[in-house]
Amino acid sequence: MTGMTRAPFATGSIVRNQFDDAADLVNLEDYMRHLLKEPFRSVTVEVPVRMDDGRIEVFRGYRIQHNGARGPCKGGVRYHPHADHEEVLGLATTMTWKTALVDVPFGGAKGGVQVNPRALSKRELEAVTRVFTSRISLMLGPYRDIPAPDMGTNQQVMAWLLDEFSKRNGYSPAVVTGKPISLGGSLGREEATGRGVALAMEAYARDEAIPIRNGTVVIQGFGNVGAHLARLLHGLGAKVIAVSDVDGGLHRTDGLDIPALFAHAYVNRHPVGEFPGGDRITDEELWGLRCDWLVPAALGGVICKDHNADVIDCRVVVEAANAPTTPIADKILAERGIVVLPDILVNAGGVIVSYFEWVQNLQQHPWSRDRVDTELAAKMTLAYGSVRELVRANRVSWRTAAYAIALERVAEAERLRGH
Ligand code: NAD
Repeated sequence: MTGMTRAPFATGSIVRNQFDDAADLVNLEDYMRHLLKEPFRSVTVEVPVRMDDGRIEVFRGYRIQHNGARGPCKGGVRYHPHADHEEVLGLATTMTWKTALVDVPFGGAKGGVQVNPRALSKRELEAVTRVFTSRISLMLGPYRDIPAPDMGTNQQVMAWLLDEFSKRNGYSPAVVTGKPISLGGSLGREEATGRGVALAMEAYARDEAIPIRNGTVVIQGFGNVGAHLARLLHGLGAKVIAVSDVDGGLHRTDGLDIPALFAHAYVNRHPVGEFPGGDRITDEELWGLRCDWLVPAALGGVICKDHNADVIDCRVVVEAANAPTTPIADKILAERGIVVLPDILVNAGGVIVSYFEWVQNLQQHPWSRDRVDTELAAKMTLAYGSVRELVRANRVSWRTAAYAIALERVAEAERLRGH
């Protein structure tokens, strides 16, 4: 599929560009703009790994701490061939704004290894994770920097990361979130990002009378975020008419059988396109489908001027992925009357429940599933309401409003610390 080979628009430049409108709205001082654009600390490491065929391959890894004024740095680890410095910095910056917007006491960080995890054996994946962890471990700690899963990583990778860190530092479950439950993970964490996206969509649906029940949904990406979101929306009565993964997409006008597709593609790891209950479609065709809700849930930079901004035919773009929309595409969509619900609001459910996991680890007191879901809904509702208020009061985009709230909070913390 075309989307697979095209290099994504650089996440770093998307995120920097989004900063300026919001900084103007809150009259941010010049020195503060500088401080908040640059990372606090940025580390590049080589990751040499003996492959199954006996060769040593050297991968490149990054851990970037963007800002820690409001708390320890927090952010996922991405394994992807495009996870270079620019991409990881953009994602680390996004984490600073996201944690501030939903008001959890963290700063922003991100990690990445430039590797295609699908091309590695399980042993090689473990070796990459252990070498990468040991080389960035000086930066990590429950009160310093706490990784989590992102694209290409999962609970098992977090378990290896925990084990490698604990060899030097002793039992430290709070150093990483998104762990398996039996190693101190939180109930509800695995589906938390998808659940948060669904909560934001339900709130917007109530405000703007766009239906979820019988509403039509298209989702790019059927991994942790996309698959759980599809499952939850299906449970709310939505018609998920198309989804895709890295190998291609699937379409069914009456709605796909999401529980069966979830078992086929998410649980059993088969390509979405091999599921029998729908027609195969290309990436191009997916973006042009008429729907109520269009949800990018894979890579950054996928909605852009040259590719699809003019052909997208939905009422709302819901940014489940990080930085999926380029600044120019953002303007085109606004001119076309298509609302974009921004990533830092919409996909914050993951970091919110990561925060709950960290709290449970520090207190050594696990929460019930009900408590996790109830407190997630409360935090998402509060953040959604504060952004909506600013959108209405200032007639700005949802993205500018969300950024403005976040920037103001981080700037206040910096000022109080004496900067
Ligand atoms: P994942 O690795 O579990 O799944 C990624 C999915 O995207 C897979 O189905 C993959 O096949 C698909 N994909 C990859 N390249 C594609 C392409 N070119 N076209 C179509 N599909 C493609 O990753 P994830 O954790 O679900 O993350 C998805 C997005 O959500 C990322 O942007 C990530 O940063 C963001 N996000 C994730 C979390 C989280 O908790 N996992 C939290 C916030 C934001």
